[in-house]
Amino acid sequence: MIPMSLADIASAVGGRLTGTDDPDQRVTGPVAHDSREITAGGLFIAFAGENADGHDFADSAFESGAVAVMGSRPVDGPTIVVDDVLVAYGRLARAVVDRLPGLTVIGITGSSGKTSTKDMIAQLCERIGSTVAPEGSLNNELGMPYTVCKADESTRYLVLEMGARGLGHIKYLCDIAPVDLAVVLNVGTAHLGEFGSVEAIGIAKAELPQAVPAGGAVVLNADDPVVSAMGDDLPATVVRFSTEEAPGAQVGASHLTAVNGRFSFVLTTPQGQSEVELRVHGAHQVANALATASVGHQLGMTAADIAAALDTVETRSSRRMDVFTRESDGIVVIDDTYNANPSSMAAALRGLADIGQGRRKIAVLGYMAELGEAERAAHEEVGRLTSEAGAELVIVVAPEAEGIAVGAAACGVSVERAADQDQAIRLIDELSRPGDTVLVKASRYRTWRVADYLRSTQT
Ligand code: ATP
Ligand code: MG
Repeated sequence: MIPMSLADIASAVGGRLTGTDDPDQRVTGPVAHDSREITAGGLFIAFAGENADGHDFADSAFESGAVAVMGSRPVDGPTIVVDDVLVAYGRLARAVVDRLPGLTVIGITGSSGKTSTKDMIAQLCERIGSTVAPEGSLNNELGMPYTVCKADESTRYLVLEMGARGLGHIKYLCDIAPVDLAVVLNVGTAHLGEFGSVEAIGIAKAELPQAVPAGGAVVLNADDPVVSAMGDDLPATVVRFSTEEAPGAQVGASHLTAVNGRFSFVLTTPQGQSEVELRVHGAHQVANALATASVGHQLGMTAADIAAALDTVETRSSRRMDVFTRESDGIVVIDDTYNANPSSMAAALRGLADIGQGRRKIAVLGYMAELGEAERAAHEEVGRLTSEAGAELVIVVAPEAEGIAVGAAACGVSVERAADQDQAIRLIDELSRPGDTVLVKASRYRTWRVADYLRSTQT
């Protein structure tokens, strides 16, 4: 973090400093809500959770070199006492951003692809300046302040993933870190159960472009009508991208080809054209690459510079279209088990079709959570898509995902039902053949062990 005195921090977060007679003492080290991450000069954020009380770890934070604790009650040592620790964490992050006038804040939202695109944009920005971005998927009111507090005077770019679970969420995140450059990828049916309708999801995501002031820029996917419409009547500059040469898009891809699911294309930006050869897998990464290219263009990069950056982008966050080959039997495994919703299932199945071209294809699929009333139809649709992807066999994991089995069987795909992950593993051992391509995917946790098993037997 940028060095800040305890008095400064207390004033920025609206807290009260206790347990010290040295308000000028400065926090210079990491700000973290996990005491194990604290080192010399750090600030430990203590949350009183349901299972564990962070205040109990204050001593260990001090032992690791913490200068102070921020919490809801005084601990034995310097404490910034606040009413609401989460709100105060956000205010601290805002104070950091406000003290860094040279910083460009880039915010990314969408139903699918936030983390993948955040990782791409971070790798692009790293080529032109010091960049801070979260690891993995820290995209909420807790993860964001944690990430923002990592910025210091050397930081030029702050790349943030912004998730929405309801109206007002993104607006809250934008108050923590006012965004200069916003990216909206797509509006799908992720978290449909919580929102009630796709329109409501669109309204929630539109809070991001609406938060960008004149002088900033908004990058929108022209291929998604709900997203594209967000560009009407905004104070900021709008850049649209399209993988389908949509009218009005300034950034595009043409001459698409794929080898083993890795796409190459000719990138067009207002600055010219350049050939891109992606290392990451899946057709959906073309859209993510164009979103990244639009950001690069907005940051003043030429098409050639952007293409050079995109060519080297690697997967940073695990379990998102991780492709590996088991040497023992040549089985190609696509581990996309991080999460699943209807649009990311569709993207992954397209990936299975591309990566598994000319090979026998197996899809090991589990339940998609948080879909509300659309749940059954959405699972059946995924079943249908397995046929379109050319899957010969679908292993459906857990009874909640039965809709996938029904949809696949209706299209003539062979179906096996596994009660749990262990049974899915036994079925793979029994039914897979050397050289097959196997996609593994579901919502959080439900097929991780299947992918890990395949990885562990990769000798
Ligand atoms: P979460 O809301 O869980 O944080 P996310 O939006 O960060 O998800 P990622 O983790 O980047 O999404 O990607 C999850 C999966 O979604 C990928 O593995 C892939 O299957 C799919 N995906 C990624 N990008 C896109 C895209 N642009 N369009 C559709 N699907 C995508
Ligand atoms: Mg994510």
